[in-house]
Amino acid sequence: MSEWKAIVHGTLIDGTGAAPVTDSVVLVKGKRVVTAGAYGAVEIPPDAQEIDVSGKTVMPGLIDGHAHVGGDTAAIQVLQLSLQRGITTVCSVSANTSGIKLRDGIDAGQVRGCARLVAGCVVCPTHGHVKFRTADGPWEVRKAVREMVMAGADFIKTAASGGFWAADEKCSVRNYTLEELVALADEAHAWDRPVVVHAHTQPGIGNSIEAGVDQIHHGAFIDEVGVRGILEKQLYYMPTLRVTSDRNLDAWPDRPWMIQEMRESQPVHRAGVRLAHEIGVKICVGTDYPGSAHGWKVGDATPFELQELIACGLSPMETIVAATKTNAEAFRKEADLGTLTPGKFADILVVEGDPLQDIGILYHQETINVVFKEGEVASADEAHKHLYRVRLDQPLRCQGVKD
Ligand SMILES: [Zn+2]
Repeated sequence: MSEWKAIVHGTLIDGTGAAPVTDSVVLVKGKRVVTAGAYGAVEIPPDAQEIDVSGKTVMPGLIDGHAHVGGDTAAIQVLQLSLQRGITTVCSVSANTSGIKLRDGIDAGQVRGCARLVAGCVVCPTHGHVKFRTADGPWEVRKAVREMVMAGADFIKTAASGGFWAADEKCSVRNYTLEELVALADEAHAWDRPVVVHAHTQPGIGNSIEAGVDQIHHGAFIDEVGVRGILEKQLYYMPTLRVTSDRNLDAWPDRPWMIQEMRESQPVHRAGVRLAHEIGVKICVGTDYPGSAHGWKVGDATPFELQELIACGLSPMETIVAATKTNAEAFRKEADLGTLTPGKFADILVVEGDPLQDIGILYHQETINVVFKEGEVASADEAHKHLYRVRLDQPLRCQGVKD
């Protein structure tokens, strides 16, 4: 069978932020996009399999930049369900060493039907908010970073402040000191690995910026100094607004301390994102999923986050760029991921309707007709399987999986 596929006549949103192309073609050879553009302007090889998606939107698979999946069977299920929802890449901030093995298994095709995993490893202070490789003091921190790089980490994750989760900590608690963050960032960068920091409050946000980390995550109590500092250093801000959304506040009746702090942070968090957007901070999409809280299913969080970002002033197109191109760049994966442009992996969604008119359509699994991962159909709606003459060698749905 030909290695060529041409996805034709859909409306193309390529993830770069460029205006949509009605009546487009995305030309794929093997795993990668060869080119994408207006139908008629792209020469289609005669032996290409043409897939007619008239009336649909064609766009890059979504990337979630802040998930918690490790390397166990539950992680596999989460990654399978994510792929079916159009999330083709999951960056786990707590993949750790078990997740690295799962990442490699997925990349080698041994674990099938899963979203791609980008594996972050945690280096943390004693009794810190995040936990895996505990290290205190600059030299021990450097050693820990080296260990995680040797294990195969795609990036290093740490915490500069406390968080909502535990009853005995507050977001205002400081985690790593400036001295430790400087050592961590310097060592990670020496090995060409980006640094991702959980930070809700000052001084953690400011210390992280000063240390030269790459991404600030959460910032539920971020202040103007923090937002402007992120811009000045051209860092990425991944707010994870879902965490402090009304829906999430309702999801945890058994954790009153958490709800109280989240409620306090809610307006501060949104004011921070509004300002970040207004002044041109690079905003990313991450959600802190899965989480087993009432009302959230695996895959709900990422499209929900896009709606939260729109409520803070982003346009639908800006949220799509944030969840594709900007996320890929933040994790230094832009050579392979993020946009439907030449040379990238063919991670493609065929969607019913126009997400620029209503971003909410991405939330509904039935509107995501087909998901391609690396040029192969990875998931397809029963109703559309036949339409696209799709043949799958794996179950379409994880029957009986508790999500
Ligand atoms: Zn998290």
